Amino acid sequence: MTLAASKFQAPKGTRDVLSPESARQRALVNTFAVMAERAGFGQIVSPMFEEVGVFKRLGEATDVVSKEMFTFFDKDQKSPTEFALRPELTASVVRAFVQHRPLVPWKAWYEGPQFRYEKPQAGRYRQFNQIGVEALGTDDPHMDVEVIALAADFYAELGLTRNRLLINSLGDASCRPAYLEALTTYFQSNLSALSEQSRVTLEINPLRVLDSKREQDQQLIDDAPVMVDFLSEDTGSHFASVRAGLELLGIPYEISPRLVRGLDYYTRTTFEFANDVMEAAQNAVGGGGRYDGLAQDLGGPATPGVGFALGVERILLACDAEGVFPAPGTTVDVFVVDATGGQNALALAAQMRSHSVSVDRAFDGRSMKSQMKAADRSGAAVALILGEDEMTSNTVTIRSMRTNDPQVTVPRAQVAEEVLKRLEQQQ
Ligand code: AMP
Repeated sequence: MTLAASKFQAPKGTRDVLSPESARQRALVNTFAVMAERAGFGQIVSPMFEEVGVFKRLGEATDVVSKEMFTFFDKDQKSPTEFALRPELTASVVRAFVQHRPLVPWKAWYEGPQFRYEKPQAGRYRQFNQIGVEALGTDDPHMDVEVIALAADFYAELGLTRNRLLINSLGDASCRPAYLEALTTYFQSNLSALSEQSRVTLEINPLRVLDSKREQDQQLIDDAPVMVDFLSEDTGSHFASVRAGLELLGIPYEISPRLVRGLDYYTRTTFEFANDVMEAAQNAVGGGGRYDGLAQDLGGPATPGVGFALGVERILLACDAEGVFPAPGTTVDVFVVDATGGQNALALAAQMRSHSVSVDRAFDGRSMKSQMKAADRSGAAVALILGEDEMTSNTVTIRSMRTNDPQVTVPRAQVAEEVLKRLEQQQ
């Protein structure tokens, strides 16, 4: 059979996720939900778009804000408002915190699609899903540790073993200015060696230069001064406590002094998980950090916060690479074969589903032979057969499809009980 080319395709950088991959994605999110709630986080569901100003606070020097936002105006004729599809959820969660002022510490988890106008490639999409947590209202380093531990435990629960945890501290307002000055002086004295784009970035935010992936910049970046050498007593001891907490929990980590991450709001702890089985361009399976100034930037009271976002598609690619967390089976328990026209299949399928048994059936009045083939293909454990004899005697014939149990014909009233018994035996 040749398929006619369809006129419309999913937009560039987006994907249709069909079963069973969709079931796998849902299973991943469900696993995360259970673990986040076990750690005391409650779910937040926020809008998929916000006033663009909410995201502008993430820093004009970040690509996410300056180049990648899907923005649009509403239809208000007099004073249209500019919105953006959310490119990430931390800003939305902090906006919600400032709006509702829940009791602190406030611990929220989330899941859902994010939108970034990126150049699509393997593992990089324009619409992708993230799962994550944010904890607002405490700067206790134990919160950083609990947040990092949740991500590490979650990856382990999926079966991933080749993730590396990279951590860094970006200091805060007490010590970062001195570092920025040292960094700026360093780059400025090597300006001719710096790529043209990085020279522009240097003007806006010298820290961002460390994030450059351009070959030309790498040597300079490798030799640049590092933030951890400039930490104040306070931020230094915060970082030491985070490390001690990770050690107490037996979570291996590497200090990565140039890890600045893609968003400007981070202070103190930053971290990232890299999967070693994946190619470097897409090996970041998640990351996060502290953002002690963000609530204030969004018009709220000074409130420290820490959180992470993990990329669902990236994690599933890592699971593929490591051969773990397969898609769950999507077979039904029961397939109804009705050689009497289909009416009886309609009633019997409904009856079985009311007993929480998953049921499929054939349509279009197909032959008995073709229906039995469909039953086979469905992977169902049990076929329920309705022929003329069964109709006359008000019975149903039960055939186990995966075992050699003898076929039996039972009164219609007993069929649910008998099927449940067989399903249980086969588990
Ligand atoms: P970020 O919000 O940029 O800190 O990203 C957090 C995680 O989301 C990354 O580690 C990736 O796993 C994932 N991610 C970010 N951007 C994309 C994208 N365009 N497509 C797929 N996954 C992404």
